[in-house]
Amino acid sequence: MRVDPIQRAIDEDLVRVLYAQDPIAFFTHWFAITVLVAPYWTNIPHPQLFAACFIFYGLANCAGLVLWMCQRRWPDTLQPRVWIYLHAVRNVLLYAAPGLSIWFSFQSAQTDLPLLHTVMLLTLAAGVFMSNGFDVINFTTSIAFLLLPTIAMHFGVHTFDRTLIASVLAFFFCAINVYSVSYRKLFQRVVQARVDQQTLAESLAEQKLVAEEANLAKTRFFAAASHDLRQPLHAIGLLAASLNDPEATRAQHAKTVDYIVNNVEALNQLFNQVLDLARLESGVAQVIPMHFRLSELFDRVGNQYWPQAAAKGLALRIAPTPAVIHGDPVLLERILSNLLSNAVRYTESGAIWMGYRRAGRATGGHIEVRDSGIGIAPDEQERIFEEFYQVTNPQRDARQGHGLGLPTVKRLVELHGSALRLRSAPGRGSVFRFSVEAGDAARIVAGFNEAASGAAAMQGRHVLCIDDEPAILEGLKSLFGRWGCTVRGVPDEALALRAIDEGFEPDAVLCDYQLANHRSGAEALAAVRDALHRRGRAQVVTLLITGDMASAELHALAAQGIPVLHKPVTAARLRRTLELLWRQPELTQEQLTEVGQGVVQALPQAAFGRQG
Ligand code: ADP
Repeated sequence: MRVDPIQRAIDEDLVRVLYAQDPIAFFTHWFAITVLVAPYWTNIPHPQLFAACFIFYGLANCAGLVLWMCQRRWPDTLQPRVWIYLHAVRNVLLYAAPGLSIWFSFQSAQTDLPLLHTVMLLTLAAGVFMSNGFDVINFTTSIAFLLLPTIAMHFGVHTFDRTLIASVLAFFFCAINVYSVSYRKLFQRVVQARVDQQTLAESLAEQKLVAEEANLAKTRFFAAASHDLRQPLHAIGLLAASLNDPEATRAQHAKTVDYIVNNVEALNQLFNQVLDLARLESGVAQVIPMHFRLSELFDRVGNQYWPQAAAKGLALRIAPTPAVIHGDPVLLERILSNLLSNAVRYTESGAIWMGYRRAGRATGGHIEVRDSGIGIAPDEQERIFEEFYQVTNPQRDARQGHGLGLPTVKRLVELHGSALRLRSAPGRGSVFRFSVEAGDAARIVAGFNEAASGAAAMQGRHVLCIDDEPAILEGLKSLFGRWGCTVRGVPDEALALRAIDEGFEPDAVLCDYQLANHRSGAEALAAVRDALHRRGRAQVVTLLITGDMASAELHALAAQGIPVLHKPVTAARLRRTLELLWRQPELTQEQLTEVGQGVVQALPQAAFGRQG
């Protein structure tokens, strides 16, 4: 049974307060026994009964002390509520004898004894209010035993003064009960305030810790990022300066230019990796799940890495699988590429294995990449998922990577609804594993490898490009021209609409996200789609291109499945995205419903592999 945390805190405090008074109560009760027995000493009515009653009182008092010792010694053996109930039982035993012993005073010949006894009981009642008033069960059991027999006995005498005493006692009994209710409410409010304050303090401490960790991670990130970005820039600067050397030969110049190109390429790759990661962090990355054969993906990724593996003398084994998967092939390809590239990089001898295991699961299985490489020490196994963290590259040699692969893989796997698991030991290789959902063979979209080879897909297409930057427009026009497309480049929405009015019917419209005149690309694309719709063209591929990463509008577009490509967009990435988008209308109606609007409208902006 789950106990409400506030109630539990109240119970814990109650236990503390109830039991705290018990040692003092132990001595008080011996004093009470003495004071109650003393007036009777010369003439005890019903001596045996009297002795039994007060021996019981003494024993109950000792039992109360034993209970107190047990609670002190083994506080956690019982729930706080159970300790409270046990204390109530102790109260019943402890207050029954003095309360009921009022009867002896009425049996005695001494007329003032009932009053003396009553005063003694009132003193005990005041003590009960102080020590047990916080808890309803402990209070009512004690006070009832102490006062109700006395009230009844006084009423039973039927004289005016005894009836008056009985009435006052009854009034006192009611009043003390009413007071104890407010006393308990106050107590609960105090405990609640303390618990609230404690929770607040704990959550503040937690947030502070998280903020400090984030700050440290950010510092590490910038230190590593600035180093890795500065290195190639520094090299480019030096190399560019050496181009001015009048004494250098043509061959030396050519070599310098080669170095510069290589460094620019390295810089470009690093930028792409950082931007990819930032895009994943910002939550605008889209997952477009499809049903596809896993073997096709394995072949595609395997083909990229087997030459590198063979060059190192490593066997790259890819387990044949008939499995059909439901997932985003583009994201999965990036995940597997990263894992295989690491496996090749960190394995000197032996083999690399990539395969799919169903592991008795009906709804899917998991993909594993294993290697017999250097392995990863247990204390590094969390850190390798931090950005720019590398175990074996203290000199940060860019040729050995930048430590961005695994953080990216981890986020991609999470984006895919799974978690990346690692099993590794130094010198014994590593296994990276994540789960995937089983697909339906009947819903397979045509082999996704085919899209890459679709040269014909571009030929003769009409493309409308909207961008207010003339250089980009020129670049796009020349690129699409080379691919055999008919291109129209315009700087804004008005001219795009005019081009459509003039009869230009594009198969694809590419638009920059931020246009001049405070128009957004999304608005321009909507206007173009409307214009084409009016001319009877329902299906047109539209694509936004942006350098913006975190605007709320972009998040909304990503959530609606509007296709967005993030700058820098490589030619291959652009082409592959368009080819896949053009293939979407060929899907059956059932497939369209299955993957939702996203497939027709959207393709992952994070297109296709590290290399784009
Ligand atoms: P990179 O490979 O670019 O350095 P990653 O983020 O992909 O960056 O990997 C981070 C670190 O994790 C690597 O520097 C390496 O030390 C360790 N690592 C990753 N994969 C493996 C592997 N298969 N075997 C051993 N170590 C690995």
